[in-house]
Amino acid sequence: MTPPALFRRAACALALALLCPALRAAPTYVLQRALGPVTVDGRLDEPTWAKARPLSPLRDLSGAPAARPAEIRMAYDDAFLYVAARLPAKTLRATLTERDSVIYRDDDFEVFIDPSATGRNYLELEINQLGTVWDLFLTAPYREPGALALHDWDIKGLRSAVTLQGTLNDGEGDDTGWTVEIAWPWASIFGHSNHPRTGKPPAPGTLWRMNFSRVDHPAPGQETNSVWAPTRLPTIHAPEHWGRVRLSANPVGTEETFPPLVGLWIHGNDPTLSPDRFRAWAKAGINTVVIGGTDANIAKAARWAKAAGLRAIAWVWALNRPDDPALDAHPDWHAVSQEGKATFREADRPFVGYYRFLCPTHPAVREHLAAHVRRLARIPEVDAIQLDYIRLPDVVLPKALWPTYGLDMSTLLPPYDFCYCPRCVAAFGKTPNPHDPAWADFRLRQVAAVANAAAQAAREAGKPCGAAVFPTPRLAAGMVYQDWARFALDFAFPMDYASFYAEDDAWVLDRVREAQTAIDGAFPIYPGLHLPDYKDDPARLRTLIRDLLRLNPAGLCLFDDSNLPPALTLP
Ligand SMILES: [Zn+2]
Repeated sequence: MTPPALFRRAACALALALLCPALRAAPTYVLQRALGPVTVDGRLDEPTWAKARPLSPLRDLSGAPAARPAEIRMAYDDAFLYVAARLPAKTLRATLTERDSVIYRDDDFEVFIDPSATGRNYLELEINQLGTVWDLFLTAPYREPGALALHDWDIKGLRSAVTLQGTLNDGEGDDTGWTVEIAWPWASIFGHSNHPRTGKPPAPGTLWRMNFSRVDHPAPGQETNSVWAPTRLPTIHAPEHWGRVRLSANPVGTEETFPPLVGLWIHGNDPTLSPDRFRAWAKAGINTVVIGGTDANIAKAARWAKAAGLRAIAWVWALNRPDDPALDAHPDWHAVSQEGKATFREADRPFVGYYRFLCPTHPAVREHLAAHVRRLARIPEVDAIQLDYIRLPDVVLPKALWPTYGLDMSTLLPPYDFCYCPRCVAAFGKTPNPHDPAWADFRLRQVAAVANAAAQAAREAGKPCGAAVFPTPRLAAGMVYQDWARFALDFAFPMDYASFYAEDDAWVLDRVREAQTAIDGAFPIYPGLHLPDYKDDPARLRTLIRDLLRLNPAGLCLFDDSNLPPALTLP
């Protein structure tokens, strides 16, 4: 086996059969503003519906082309989320007239919303051709112990209408279809991005998970499920596989673009920083700096950045917080290894002394990080937040680093596998088996929830939030429990550092393509390049940047300021 093949197997060691589908691309829809009032009469004759783009075609649950198609569109205004669906059907058939009947026993149309993108506390609406509604609130997917489905929950203020193109229950097979129009009040989409109910639409950039389904009964005893986002499971109740919906401030029909970004990671604590350096970076083509350092130094550097016409992103240690004194007072915040060792004591930390990783499940950890993000987001000159180390310790190190630590990480090594703390084990609900994909999935979900809570804290302060992540969601999940395809971010900076992986620039381009496929435009990707790899060969760097930009990422970011070639001028 060649080393790269070995490495691929190692990186996927945790992404076993059940986990791998989670790493497939989920479809994305950009939710835009309605052009004017939408009258909920089931007729879809508003200009909004003429302009709004349809969702991608339905599939069956396994991902194969769907048994029955549907044309689904969405829009929103200050009061409502609107859904419009045209559902071709040769035979119209419905019998259920009582609200909260089991509507899918008729042919129906279904809408699912996971407003916090956590796979918890999600909403479901089913409607049949008589317009009868079943609305319910689920605390967790049915497959999970303790999951509750609250059938008596109602979408307060829901408006819905159905029109029929044919005759109901005449058994003739000469119908052509039915049309559904829904106005779902924002006041009943509470929990969007962990936000309390406000009655207002969430902030632009907010990302949540949705799915749509039509259930049809082609013959008695037969049932087909046609869905927007295949779950690759026998059920649609797997919110982690649903499609992503990103809210935009633009009116329906607008071509969505992301701000082009040419970024540079800089060290805010560097005592030699001066306003001149920022001006020189601006002159070289940099338009954004990502600033690490103390809060005060980030604020100072952000001021200088603004003065030089640069955007400023504050860089934050997320789940690894080496310089945070608060950690000393909270041994219980620390992540715990399979061997039961916490990162609290320096001698017990994996790899390096600065690995002070925190438990992703602990509510105090989530709030502590969110509070820090909120503080940074409130600095007027800070334009956005970037989370880094939003992950667990490396259960698989990049291959080039194995010799550094004398490790062969092609199998799961207990000292490097975290978080087995009592809180995580209790939340998982049973003694974890290190090789159980459900246990890996649990930790992937917990890490995503930390990222989503931090991103929401930034948005509450009016700033977008992204993350520096491993090159692709697949690699990141297998190496550090960071499936960033599940993160509700405003942007991501994948660290495509070829030398860490003993790889070349073709590998970088392949990883960028893989990440673009996985994210499907849900948020912009700004690939990060490791400048020391190109120190002796600036021509190679120029070629890579040229090839990279041909893939149309939203931009790129360079690590770091101290390795910026003096003569480099960026596009
Ligand atoms: Zn834990």
